Amino acid sequence: MFMTKNVLKNLMTKYATRLYPFHKREPFKNVKGELKIDMDKCILCGVCKLRCPSQCIKVDKQAKTWEVDPFSCVYCGICVEACPVKCLYQEGQYRAPLAEMDMVLHIQEAKPVEPAPAT
Ligand code: SF4
Ligand code: SF4
Repeated sequence: MFMTKNVLKNLMTKYATRLYPFHKREPFKNVKGELKIDMDKCILCGVCKLRCPSQCIKVDKQAKTWEVDPFSCVYCGICVEACPVKCLYQEGQYRAPLAEMDMVLHIQEAKPVEPAPAT
């Protein structure tokens, strides 16, 4: 009898959960979301890699690549604070679910070489 009362009550009340990912909850204010980089500004110094507590950043200065493992990142924001040129930032959104685990790779495009001034 106790159970029937509970079942009837649950059928009459609003759902306590959402049908994710079709119904997403709006992120809370000031949420530290997905880590992003402005690769044009990055100087490939590696400070973010050294400061990351999860050791999920890889920087290769020669190949001009910056990589993050989004599955190891704990979104603490330490790398964002440590970056000397402020090219890292976090969006106020959580990362979308993925079917496969993969690194997020950014390759810096070669900058045009400015001609030397004529003497
Ligand atoms: S700390 Fe900033 S500039 Fe240095 S490698 Fe990381 S993202 Fe690039
Ligand atoms: S947000 Fe934190 S865990 Fe994620 S890459 Fe930056 S320092 Fe590492």
